[in-house]
Amino acid sequence: MNLLQTFWGLFFPKICLSCDERLSENEQFICSSCFNSLSFLEDICPICGAPETTENCNVCKTNEFLFDKACSVFMFNKVVQNIIHEFKYNEMTRIAKFMGALSQEYLERFQPFDHIDYIVPVPLHKVKKRSRGFNQAEYIAREISKNMNWKYLPMLIKRKRFTETQTKLNKEQRKKNVSLAFKINLKYEIKGKNILLVDDVFTTGATANSIAVALKEMQVNKVYVFTIGRAL
Ligand SMILES: [Zn+2]
Ligand SMILES: [Zn+2]
Repeated sequence: MNLLQTFWGLFFPKICLSCDERLSENEQFICSSCFNSLSFLEDICPICGAPETTENCNVCKTNEFLFDKACSVFMFNKVVQNIIHEFKYNEMTRIAKFMGALSQEYLERFQPFDHIDYIVPVPLHKVKKRSRGFNQAEYIAREISKNMNWKYLPMLIKRKRFTETQTKLNKEQRKKNVSLAFKINLKYEIKGKNILLVDDVFTTGATANSIAVALKEMQVNKVYVFTIGRAL
């Protein structure tokens, strides 16, 4: 540790992003007890990424997924929730790096996707983006793109209209609400390409579905979905 780091640490001690415990020198971002509560999500449905290995996944039985494959780094537990919450409001760059590193480790270990041509964040509507200040999916996607050497295409997908806060709606309403909500930027040649959508949390898959429809209309080859947390 140099003098500046010591000085900095005195006034801004590093604390765990999840539980606010002070971090020791060899801990980064989260403390070891929070870190130990996380485990990579493996043994998943090969289509939707739910933690089910049965041939006919229960989530797939009750949902029609229009993307080719989805997977997530972690199940959505308290620690993941805390990290994502912190991420939304503070220190996005630092946390994005952390998530990007974990994502890279996951992607390299499990290699869930075939060749990726473009990596694209799920867009936030302008109004929402303004009130929150930024789109966390962009930060995560940019980090993954750097780590994995995949071409980052943040302007490929746009939201057409404001979609209400999803949490107030039931499953059917959510589906309707996001359908036709996206438009594809025709500036990019995406025909026959494999595209990876990135978001913070996979909840119902409705947003990913809606984007997948728009992309497939443009004759994209594969639409893959990757998130940090998995809620479903
Ligand atoms: Zn902690
Ligand atoms: Zn499934």
